Formats: sequence, structure tokens, C-alpha cells
Amino acid sequence: MKHFLLFFFLVIVISATAQKTILHCGFLIDGKNNEVQAQITVIIEGDKITGISKGFIPKGSADTLIDLSTKTVMPGLIDMHVHLEGETSKDQSLQRFTFNEADIAFRATVYARKTLMAGFTTVRDLGGTGVNTSLRNAINQGLVIGPRIFSAGKSIATTGGHADPTNSYRKDLMGDPGPKEGVINSADDARKAVRQRYKDGADLIKITATGGVTSLAKDASGPQFTDEELKAIVETARDYGMHTAAHAHGAEGMKRAVLAGITTIEHGTLMTEEVMDLMKQKGTFYVPTLTAGKFVGEQAKIPGYYHPLVAPKAAAIGPQIQKTYAKAYKRGVKIAFGTDAGVYYHGDNAQEFALMVEGGMPPIEAIKSATVVNAGILNMLDKIGTIEPGKLADIIATDENPLKNIRALEKVSFVMKEGKVYKQ
Ligand SMILES: [Zn+2]
Repeated sequence: MKHFLLFFFLVIVISATAQKTILHCGFLIDGKNNEVQAQITVIIEGDKITGISKGFIPKGSADTLIDLSTKTVMPGLIDMHVHLEGETSKDQSLQRFTFNEADIAFRATVYARKTLMAGFTTVRDLGGTGVNTSLRNAINQGLVIGPRIFSAGKSIATTGGHADPTNSYRKDLMGDPGPKEGVINSADDARKAVRQRYKDGADLIKITATGGVTSLAKDASGPQFTDEELKAIVETARDYGMHTAAHAHGAEGMKRAVLAGITTIEHGTLMTEEVMDLMKQKGTFYVPTLTAGKFVGEQAKIPGYYHPLVAPKAAAIGPQIQKTYAKAYKRGVKIAFGTDAGVYYHGDNAQEFALMVEGGMPPIEAIKSATVVNAGILNMLDKIGTIEPGKLADIIATDENPLKNIRALEKVSFVMKEGKVYKQ
């Protein structure tokens, strides 16, 4: 009895003095409601949101008060398509021969920090060498500052396809990569490649369902997987609790991936109405990556910026994505915010919002697409995506109300991840 009372007394003392962080939010977009709420207090204990109250409630003596009373506060942003291992540059296709893994890793830590400081507290890394998965671990362990990462490890391609890492390089330097390296040529290979990624610690599977813009190959839009290979990938990924993302520019490759049950279609440049309707029917998400499309279209005009095989594809594909997105949104395809950061400069991710709004999406819907919608795809709705008690305290703020000026999101002035302030 005595011990019990002592324990009870200690619990009371500890809970009375437990440090809370109190946010006074001028305006709150909670990710759940479409209305902005004025003058709200958000209470944080440890890494979680524990309370939300109307009005500005005073802090206790042990608490920390953060004054965001002139700002608009919202959930941390989620980008479904980044590549934290690299960044666009004129000599990017050479870096395969000049960068060691350590060179990639050091740079990745810089890109990760920029991404977090831009208000993106969670990202999906859709393909690298595997350094992306190590970066995720280092961030989770608190060794490196960056967003929470869901990593695809190395993308899966077919021989000569987009993400075959040996395309157009000297044969004697490159060898013949197989499923382990992410190059498959049968359903068996496909299963091996997925299981290998599971073993390597990937969170999801990324495939390159059609040709691509930045790879050293001629074609950007033809299909590059058979139905059997796609089926094997999606089914095996499901067995291991992983969702799937397909890079796709051409309609046939997209259609095959959607029919196989892929979770998200990336870029979707030449998406037909038939594919749009199929995506609606299957519940497939479209990740438009408008920022990257616009960037490569502009860079292609600079002579010599891209390899001669890449430049014409960039000029043709880049400018088309925005039109396709506008059409797909209007037709009712589910849109997930994602930008292909790395193809343009890391930290500029929020430029996507203005492009989404230009294409016809209301600002509140664009914000939800980058928060609650993406949290759902990542199977993380119980932890992130909205500002609600019980969720992780991933919270950002802007000086201006983004519902009035969407570009306010390009200048995030406050970033908190898991209750820790990174920018104020
Ligand atoms: Zn990409």
C-alpha cells in the first residue's frame, strides 16, 4: 500500500511538471477541415500533439511557449517523389564515374536538410543507390537532420530501360546487372528484385514502367515491362507489406501498371482519358511532378546542359505534364503531391503548389494532397498528415495565409518535426 501511494504521488508530481510546448497559432489549417480556424492553441508533449484548444491558453511555468499568433499553421508537408541522393547539374551523367558512395552520402545529408527546412517533414525517396535507405536510418537515429524518409532503395527497371544504370556507358565498365541491381527480365527476376529490396530495407517498390527523360536512352514513353513482370512485382510487394510506384510517361506502360494494381503513377505525361478512367476505377493515385516537368523543359533550352540523348526528351516531355495534370484533376483522378526533387533543386519542392493551383486545384485541396492524402498512401494516417491529438507533432507555419497566396508555402518560417523545432 505504501509503495502504491508513493508511486501514485510520483506520477502526480511528474505529470504536473511535464514540460509541454504550447503553440499559439494565429490561423490553423488542420488538414481535416477545409475551414481555417483562428486563434488556436496546440499542445505538444514529447513528440506528440496532446491537445488543441480554442483561444490562446496560457503556458504553465515549466512549459515553452512558441508564438505563431501572426502565422498560418498546418501539418508538415509530404512530398511523394524525391531523389535525395543527387541534384541536377550539367555533369550529372559523369558522376557515376567520379562519385564514391561517400560523396553521394555527404551530399544527400545537405539535400535532406534543405528539404526539411522547406517544410517537408516526410518524403518518399523514389530511387537511388541504396544510400537513400541508409540516410533514412541516420535521420531516424537523430544523426542527420532531414525529413522522415520512405525509401524505395534502387528502382527496378528492365534491360536498357529507364533506371538500368548501365545505359549508354562503355560495355567493359558496366557488366550485365540483374535483379539484385534492379534490372529484371522475367517474372522470376521481378520477384527476386522485390525480395532483395525488402532484404535491403526498402519501404516500398519503385519501377520504371516506361522510358524516361533523364536516362541515357532514346525513348521516353514506350512500355518497358510485360504484364507478367508487373503482376509479379505488385503481388510480391504486397506480400511484404510494401506499396508500389511506377514512373510512366507513355499511356501503354501506364495502363499495364494500373491494371497490375500499382499504387501511384509518377509523371503520367501522355496519360489518355482511358487511363484516367482506369485509374479512377482502380483507385490509383497520380503524382504529377509538375515542378520537374517545368524545370527540364526550361533547362533543355540551354545548349549543352543535358546529354544529347536527354535534351530532346526533356524539351518534348517537360512542358506537357501540366496540361495532363489539369485534365486528370478535372476528370476526377486522385492527385498525390509529389515533385521529383533532385531533377530540379532540393528545397524548391513547394513550387509545386502554385503549379497545382494554376492547373485548377483549389489551394486547400493542394495542401490536403501534400498532407492527409499522402499520409494515407504511406499508411501513416494514424501518425501524420493532420494536426490532431495523438499524432506526431510535425507542424509548419507560413507568414502569409497560403489560401490567399499559395506561394506563401515557398517561404515556410517555422518547422517542427516530432515535437522538435528545426526552424523558427
Ligand atoms: Zn523521379
